[in-house]
Amino acid sequence: MTAIPKLREGDRLVLATHNAGKLKEFQELFEPFGLELVSAGELGLPEPEETGTTFAENARLKAHAAAQASGMLALSDDSGLCVDALNGDPGVYTADWAGVPRDFNRAMKRVEDALQAANATEPSRRRAAFNATLCLAHPDGRDVIYHGVCPGTLVWPPRGERGHGYDPMFMPDGYDITFGQMPPEMKHSWSPGQQGLSHRARSFAKFVEGQIER
Ligand code: IMP
Repeated sequence: MTAIPKLREGDRLVLATHNAGKLKEFQELFEPFGLELVSAGELGLPEPEETGTTFAENARLKAHAAAQASGMLALSDDSGLCVDALNGDPGVYTADWAGVPRDFNRAMKRVEDALQAANATEPSRRRAAFNATLCLAHPDGRDVIYHGVCPGTLVWPPRGERGHGYDPMFMPDGYDITFGQMPPEMKHSWSPGQQGLSHRARSFAKFVEGQIER
């Protein structure tokens, strides 16, 4: 099958999410390219279960469900934190470790307890990476995947009040502050030809490079 043609100004796609915050974030990323995003939530599409065991599987599952149901090109993203000393956990279960309702202080403590149980006290034993995977799917079944990875070290206790999720315990390589201590523009910064800092910025930079006509 041929590749999905590059996106052009004026194209409209569905973002495979029911999360209004994620929609706003992606609308801001796509706006400079003249691309319009509508969400699966706004279209009243069903939300598929994320039964995959990799970020790519879950991203594919969400993008194809939205493309099939809407008849439009669909974009999804799936992300999470992989900790080396925990054999890649929590990985695709990153959100689940926060329980219901979501409590990320509890989630960070669970990661820390698991690190202590593994005797991972030295920074070199506390390596981790945030991952973000984007999938663009066509209603005819074609798709393309872009991965972004941000490697770093986990610290304890958590530092900073900014960001969300596991940000206060994650110190990206090359910095001596955590994502929780960074202004959002520093974490998410991205510009053409540069890879960006956060996993999401890095996956988006690759998406722009490979999939947007400029
Ligand atoms: P999803 O991308 O909505 O599936 O979210 C996966 C999980 O990873 C969520 O629980 C987030 O809290 C966590 N996560 C993803 N990206 C980040 C980040 O940049 N900082 C902190 N937590 C993140």
